[in-house]
Amino acid sequence: MIHYFLKTTHFIPDYHVDTIYDLDFDAIKKQGITVLLFDIDNTIIPYDKHLPDDAIIAFFDDIKKKGFETVLISNNHKPRIKRFGEALGLPYVYSAKKPLRSGFKKALKKLAFTPDKQSVMVVGDQLMTDVFGARRSGLNAALVKPLKKKTEKWYTKLNRIIEHKMLKKIARHDPEAFNSLKLDKR
Ligand SMILES: [Mg+2]
Repeated sequence: MIHYFLKTTHFIPDYHVDTIYDLDFDAIKKQGITVLLFDIDNTIIPYDKHLPDDAIIAFFDDIKKKGFETVLISNNHKPRIKRFGEALGLPYVYSAKKPLRSGFKKALKKLAFTPDKQSVMVVGDQLMTDVFGARRSGLNAALVKPLKKKTEKWYTKLNRIIEHKMLKKIARHDPEAFNSLKLDKR
């Protein structure tokens, strides 16, 4: 399987938390991060939801007040991502083809300025697309637990199998990172 050929360092996030609400944005800001690229499916909403609820709207209002620029970045198709992005009033990239670099570049071009890579963090629920894509692009990465695995599509289920094997590989090669990030709790 593909995980044999991939370096574990490309799959270790900077943060691992249960949900987006558990991220400490004051600490993240102190670290010098000012731009957040958010995955949507199973990071902000499960596949069977289509629009942001009040808690999500309040969440993005809050991080905007804290001084972060946000772009949504998803591998999902245009109608879903456009509807969600417009409802939140945030720029978005659909069909991003994560973990390829092109989608991340596209997302950063949505900003009015060119940020330093160290000031950008990707937030997502998948090791194989969000974390790997962020690392390949030289960006920071925060990993959250998927909101609802049951409704995931076949290709995401396949990614989860590879993710599981990669997590085992991280546990073997870098137990310190594995334990400090509590990756066993995924
Ligand atoms: Mg996702």
